[in-house]
Amino acid sequence: MKEQLRIGSHLSSSAGYLAMGQAAVAQGADTFAFFTRNPRGGKAKELNPKDIEDFLAFAKKNRIAHIIAHAPYTMNPCAAKDTLRTFARETMADDLRRLEMTPGNYYNFHPGSHVGQGAQTGIELCAALLNYALKPTQHTTVLIETMSGKGTEIGKTFQEIAAIIERVELKDHVGVCLDTCHIWDAGYDIVSHLDDVIAEFNDIIGLDHLKAIHLNDSLNPRSSKKDRHACIGEGAIGLDALTAVINHPILCRLPFILETPNDSEGYAKEISLLRSRWKPEK
Ligand code: FE
Ligand code: FE
Ligand code: ZN
Repeated sequence: MKEQLRIGSHLSSSAGYLAMGQAAVAQGADTFAFFTRNPRGGKAKELNPKDIEDFLAFAKKNRIAHIIAHAPYTMNPCAAKDTLRTFARETMADDLRRLEMTPGNYYNFHPGSHVGQGAQTGIELCAALLNYALKPTQHTTVLIETMSGKGTEIGKTFQEIAAIIERVELKDHVGVCLDTCHIWDAGYDIVSHLDDVIAEFNDIIGLDHLKAIHLNDSLNPRSSKKDRHACIGEGAIGLDALTAVINHPILCRLPFILETPNDSEGYAKEISLLRSRWKPEK
């Protein structure tokens, strides 16, 4: 049953969890995403247990769910340098430890850039990171993000994502976050053949692994491998195709996160536009 459109935006985490919950509600959102630490890396702030407790009560009251923590961009799971791979391992393990304070949510990361070592090596290194960081007892599902294929990024095809998951031991703790701008830029035609793309995802990865959507328009034509996000309806994907995404019978149950170039007023407008385009089941 389609019950509600679950949608939110990417928020600043600098003022803590309760502040993010309040910002989400102010935007008309019922979920949100945030960076676990400075997106360029560095040490995470210690969590404040009182802030978390207040947030959890606020989230319950306001029906906020499926929040998605995003790993820093500087984390490259398949870096060639040992020190960078160690940083990725320690960052993910530490983030997952901290996220146990808000159990039952998601942690999304970029599978990384192989920097000339080849996609196959990238896949092995990314899986090795997951096998290091995932713990049988954790309550967070780690989501691999589908990438555009700019530079030497891996995760640009469903096959590469499937190959990573195949090598992970604790598969129950791994899912996929599908980014509409990224898969469009990677070559998947979600404008004219959305059903075929979803069927292909199911054949290669399996829809049970699909846990969240990053809903973005793209500044560039399909297959451009650029990764430049546009506001909803202002890019090459367009409002009609993104409306079809939120209303798709399989996708409609997932949380949607906007990562469009907006301030909070812009996000509120996009959320209300998309809610107006939501078609409840007849
Ligand atoms: Fe991302
Ligand atoms: Fe994204
Ligand atoms: Zn992107």
